[in-house]
Amino acid sequence: MAAVKQEEGNVTVVVRVRPESHREQDGNHHTVVQVVDEQVLVFDPKEDTSEGVFAEVKFRGRAAPSRKNKDLKFVFDRVFDQSATQEDLFEFATKNILEGVLNGYNCSVFAYGATGAGKTHTMLGTAEQPGVMYFTMVELYKRIEQLKDEKSCEVAVSYLEVYNEQIQDLLEPKGPLALREDPQKGAVIQRLSYHQPKSAAELLEMLASGNRNRTQHPTDANATSSRSHAVFQVHVKQQDRIAGLSKNLRMAKMCLIDLAGSERASATKTCGSRFREGANINRSLLALGNVINALADLKKKKAHIPYRDSKLTRLLKDSLGGNCQTVMIAAISPSAMSYEDTYNTLKYANRAKDI
Ligand code: ADP
Ligand code: MG
Repeated sequence: MAAVKQEEGNVTVVVRVRPESHREQDGNHHTVVQVVDEQVLVFDPKEDTSEGVFAEVKFRGRAAPSRKNKDLKFVFDRVFDQSATQEDLFEFATKNILEGVLNGYNCSVFAYGATGAGKTHTMLGTAEQPGVMYFTMVELYKRIEQLKDEKSCEVAVSYLEVYNEQIQDLLEPKGPLALREDPQKGAVIQRLSYHQPKSAAELLEMLASGNRNRTQHPTDANATSSRSHAVFQVHVKQQDRIAGLSKNLRMAKMCLIDLAGSERASATKTCGSRFREGANINRSLLALGNVINALADLKKKKAHIPYRDSKLTRLLKDSLGGNCQTVMIAAISPSAMSYEDTYNTLKYANRAKDI
């Protein structure tokens, strides 16, 4: 495919602040995120001193969140507060990139954030409130239907996880899969199953069952903590219907990724095999961070992009940077209980804006 000049703004960074959980509400902690408008939020806003002192007293004897009145203003492409619906996220975060996919460009959507921040809710959601993956597919089918007189389209989906630097098929689990780099096709995962759901409902059931196959360890810091990266890939193949010699074949793929929790491994118990697990999670997330940093530097000077450093980045090599549209959804909790995680996520998201 002809190289197209890289445009500015291939990366869209959005932040979603989830509602406080019951536990957070019951703890009567402060919220440390103030959504100012659709693009601005303030982390750890300044308060008058009396309240600040009061906060110190209240946390005495417990693990006191290190509230420092940082009063940091962040600007993103979009900030969603706790009232945002799943459709709102879809409308802004992924609806537009479908255009790119139908024009033959790869794209990727990431949900980044600490465990419990709302990544899976945003990407997968529930039966009552399906997430971005579902709405994106419904819209894709709709667009294909509209195009059907001009083009024939084939859609195939796969759903895998990267766990402990191993790739597993979430739709047909069968042990670790090998990743091979093909000069033409890019990253190819051997033995990965591809599916063609007939309806949105079938797709939803497929995703939910795939998610149940994700590797989870309910013993540690958080009962629903997940150390696996879930990668949902949608492959779109289009051909002109107009009779003639040149069929104008277009292939593109969209990757929707529910990343592992970004909290530092040191925060959870790490021993034996679980330590390896923690180290490897860090490897894929760290590598993704490094790739994002290098892509940001690329804007200024030539830089080496270290895609090869982890399974996740090797897998996503052809869906990041260049002509690829990327959407980063940073999920955060508003509670002081997640102070450090939220601060780290905001810094990471802020860096991604520069790509
Ligand atoms: P993560 O995948 O980042 O670990 P989850 O998506 O599992 O986090 O969210 C943690 C909890 O918070 C879940 O019970 C989820 O239903 C709830 N939650 C997350 N985001 C929202 C939201 N926007 N609205 C309502 N509940 C949410
Ligand atoms: Mg999750």
